[in-house]
Amino acid sequence: MPREKETTVATDQEVERAAELLVEAEYAIALTGAGMSVESGIPPFRGPGGLWTKYGEPPMNGFQIFLADPKKAWEERLSRQDDELFAPLRTAKPNPGHFALSELEAMGLLHFVITQNVDDLHRQAGQVALGEIHGNFKLIRCLECGERFKWDEVILEELPPHCPRCRGLLKSDTVSFGEPIPTDVLDQCAAHASRADLVIVAGTSATVYPAAGFAIEVKEHGGKLIEVNLYESEITQLCDVSLRGGAAVVLPRLVKAAAKRRHTTLS
Ligand SMILES: [Zn+2]
Repeated sequence: MPREKETTVATDQEVERAAELLVEAEYAIALTGAGMSVESGIPPFRGPGGLWTKYGEPPMNGFQIFLADPKKAWEERLSRQDDELFAPLRTAKPNPGHFALSELEAMGLLHFVITQNVDDLHRQAGQVALGEIHGNFKLIRCLECGERFKWDEVILEELPPHCPRCRGLLKSDTVSFGEPIPTDVLDQCAAHASRADLVIVAGTSATVYPAAGFAIEVKEHGGKLIEVNLYESEITQLCDVSLRGGAAVVLPRLVKAAAKRRHTTLS
């Protein structure tokens, strides 16, 4: 395994600068990715130790394969409940980074989180305003009406299952390769991004579209970008502040600094 580049942890001064921008912002949002899940013990797909690095990339036309034979795709999906991908997803718990973002939301400093993660951990941490752009592994989605169901709300005796509301074909909510991002989530994310004047980019190199596009759009409209990442990434050069370190370590520091700063500003 190649040795990762050494990282230095964000200084107090850098965290203070980020907190200042956050408190000044009118409408801050966050964009989160795999790095946050890794800190909760979920293996990433890409990079060293990644599941795809180990087992190879899944087919790029996964959605078309599903549509061609949904019964077979469902059987395969159900047989994988305890494999290396799904077992860690089911046992993972939110880390201090997830809780820090929900705290910022409760403080009125963060208005929306766009996540590329399917692990449900932002919800479990109490995040309310959330767009799961790649879906949620705990949900099943109707391809016709778009309604989401919990797994235990769907009868899986006969495969493929059909929507209890409209009889449409059901699929896991996680977005497959070749599958369009559900328009309801995409529209919701786009609406928040168009209002945003600051984005906290956490645990993602922001190279996967369309998520990355939201951060870049905000920057192009004169907004600020704060990056929280272990390593320098392609978005680093666009960022106003780059906080090196894991989200689980750095985001709680940002919350603390923002709370203190806001308190000082209000009094
Ligand atoms: Zn339906």
